[in-house]
Amino acid sequence: MTPPTTSSSKDKLAALRTEIEHRNPAQPEFHQAVHEVLESLAPVLAVRDDYAQASLVERLCEPERQIIFRVPWQDDRGRVHVNRGFRVEFNSALGPYKGGLRFHSSVNLGIVKFLGFEQVFKNALTGLGIGGGKGGSDFDPHGRSDSEVMRFCQSFMTELHRHIGAHTDVPAGDIGVGGREIGYLFGQYRRITNRWESGVLTGKGLSWGGSAIRPEATGYGNVYFAAEMLRRRGEDLQGQTAVVSGSGNVAIYTIEKLKALGANALTCSDSGGYVIDDKGIDVELLKQVKEVERARISEYAERRGASARYISGGSVWDVPADIALPSATQNELGAEAAATLVRNGVKAVSEGANMPTTMEAVDVLHEAGVAFGPGKAANAGGVAVSALEMQQNAARDTWTPARVEDELLRIMQDIHHTCYETAERYDAPGNYVTGANIAGFERVADAMLAQGVI
Ligand code: GLU
Repeated sequence: MTPPTTSSSKDKLAALRTEIEHRNPAQPEFHQAVHEVLESLAPVLAVRDDYAQASLVERLCEPERQIIFRVPWQDDRGRVHVNRGFRVEFNSALGPYKGGLRFHSSVNLGIVKFLGFEQVFKNALTGLGIGGGKGGSDFDPHGRSDSEVMRFCQSFMTELHRHIGAHTDVPAGDIGVGGREIGYLFGQYRRITNRWESGVLTGKGLSWGGSAIRPEATGYGNVYFAAEMLRRRGEDLQGQTAVVSGSGNVAIYTIEKLKALGANALTCSDSGGYVIDDKGIDVELLKQVKEVERARISEYAERRGASARYISGGSVWDVPADIALPSATQNELGAEAAATLVRNGVKAVSEGANMPTTMEAVDVLHEAGVAFGPGKAANAGGVAVSALEMQQNAARDTWTPARVEDELLRIMQDIHHTCYETAERYDAPGNYVTGANIAGFERVADAMLAQGVI
């Protein structure tokens, strides 16, 4: 038999991609996430025939289990609503399924599968022994009262509880799921099971099993990753300006850490528009508006005074800055926006959200020599601190904020190093997409190979 070459492996991967698209119709985000990873793997399969023989890529692209369920609940006026709940348990070769729950009207099976697929590689990169999964619902908590959110969460957990557990599957938050939702979900799990199983969910409150720095971790971690990318280019964050999208917990703590490290975030956004603040975003005011009042960011501009303007619609990527940290949602930064960023002299783009940059936009950035940190590496700090929360829960221990943050910094530097070195090893210097995809893949693939055909 002739040994595989990069080009014959490429052909096989292209055929596999077509097959996956046929088997999973109408799931464009899942196709995109698979496409991006398969694009990176040809050089690995060319040297690792054992991976090809074991159909590892084929197995990796098929979730181990997919759960879809009805979530009925009553609003404050007594009207009954029906939402759809999902949990996709993608891969458990390295540890229990781990990944967030997203509550947003756009959630469907394809979205959950794209997120679960990304999570498998991201979690492998953390090196912390966690498999990958994701879940959620097309329920939108915005505009709902606390009681409505509670009733929804209780109904959601009434089904979900039978599928999860500290050694099985450990959900957490994502868009639309924060501390409030995790509290209601945990309470219902505890009530149904009659067990104090703190390691079943992460993102819990500090006084009942949560970890310090978990809310901050995704944003802080992304800033650490961006700093490492800049360091490789002989620069640091001091004095740099940043354009940040989103205004959820990832964006908020990105802005906070940028400031702490001497940079200045000029923007934030929500689905209605964006804010530009010439003095830099005041993170305390942003927290008050978004976290306490759950209001729109137009409110921020109104209260901030002369330095800030709210721009309805429009693209936050039009704002010139040294670095860009997309922290809202998938496909928010397309090729045109990437070209604008390049024209404005951007040096680095680091993804706080999952897959916010389209593949075409990534090509534009790479061609222009911009450092690009893909979410599965750059935003892994959130799930990494979730894994530290699981460690604390297992040991019935509580770590100090300083200890957790030290660990987070070390993990992000380690992920950066792994991606950088792997890209070099595969002849793609400076390409963190290749580095992250291959390094994550190798870790999961080796574990699957050792564990047999399962
Ligand atoms: N939703 C986050 C992510 O995309 C965190 C998941 C977790 O903490 O389990 O990685």
